[in-house]
Amino acid sequence: MILARLRKVIHSMSSVLKLAQMAAMGIDYSTFGQYVLNISKLRDIDGILREASNCLKDILDYELFGFAVSEANSISLWVDPRIYRERLIQIIEKDFGRQFSDIDVHYLTGIDKTGRRQNIDDVSIISFPVVEGAVLYIAPGKRMKYYHVEIIGVIIKTIASTLDNADKMRQLERAATIDSLTGCYNRRALSGIIEHEAARAERHSAELSVVMFDLDHFKQVNDNFGHAAGDEVLREVSKAVLNMVRKSDYAARYGGEEFLLVLPDTSTSMAVELAERLRCVIEGLKITVGSDTINVTSSFGVAGFKRGLSGDRLIREADAMLYKAKIGGRNMVMPTGYGLMEAAA
Ligand code: GH3
Ligand code: MG
Ligand code: MG
Repeated sequence: MILARLRKVIHSMSSVLKLAQMAAMGIDYSTFGQYVLNISKLRDIDGILREASNCLKDILDYELFGFAVSEANSISLWVDPRIYRERLIQIIEKDFGRQFSDIDVHYLTGIDKTGRRQNIDDVSIISFPVVEGAVLYIAPGKRMKYYHVEIIGVIIKTIASTLDNADKMRQLERAATIDSLTGCYNRRALSGIIEHEAARAERHSAELSVVMFDLDHFKQVNDNFGHAAGDEVLREVSKAVLNMVRKSDYAARYGGEEFLLVLPDTSTSMAVELAERLRCVIEGLKITVGSDTINVTSSFGVAGFKRGLSGDRLIREADAMLYKAKIGGRNMVMPTGYGLMEAAA
């Protein structure tokens, strides 16, 4: 199977570089083919660059110094830890013809960090565009040959198509886990998240809270303004919520107009505070749809993890508290600890 794939890769490579030609150049095409195959199987940028760096070193004795991907005013940079990144940034800004306000630096892994720091001025760095907005920075070895550019071309083509595949995979994964209307996690993704976080809290004796909330009298919003307006309300509320939770928190759409927040490393009292802030923000939203301005309120139930509790049980506790908030008059936060679950258990 692997051999068949390898043959296919070598075959496609040979359309760019004739095998005989490679042999004449003293290049071990089987090793080179294996590198190309390895790169094409990877899904993460770090892995792809590490393998490309090994390939360049092994086949051509070239160093891969950096990889830059730009988007508007921000740039993501993968740099060799042995070089002075400020100098590389200067080179990249000159290359892209503009300055970047937001630079996200990653260090290329798998490189011996104890190695000698290289002064970038001592080596000539050549930039190779990979795809639109993405550039690879390579320093050639001492003996630069005419056919090296062709070899680099194959590596770059492989990186480009692998990144493209990885991007498509991410889009597919995203479609399978994200609710398309609200941008929140969907219910399917939530069940994995909550069990994972409950197990983590158990293992590390960490805090974990969940908040369940539901829009009040939402049926009336649909009845009064139409279903499309109801959808717009769901979008606006989700946007506000996603803006207010931390990066490490999870916001999921649990049902039609019901949401669940999973808050790792968060005590119940912190979760209650967050719920109260969200309640106020949602109450204050003025959602305009056509000539209508729509206001909504929401009710919250909060539950905190305790040892031995399953994720499912934690959700049920938050649900029970949400129910209490509804019968208590709506537009309120009901924290855990009202003995309801004890009575139900
Ligand atoms: P309560 O305060 O008790 O929660 O009252 P409610 O009217 O919000 O609750 P109910 O469960 O009676 O109605 C929920 C409504 O939410 C009915 C349903 O049509 C609407 N809904 C569910 N999903 C969607 C959606 O994706 N878009 C729109 N526009 N409405 C939805
Ligand atoms: Mg409702
Ligand atoms: Mg509901």
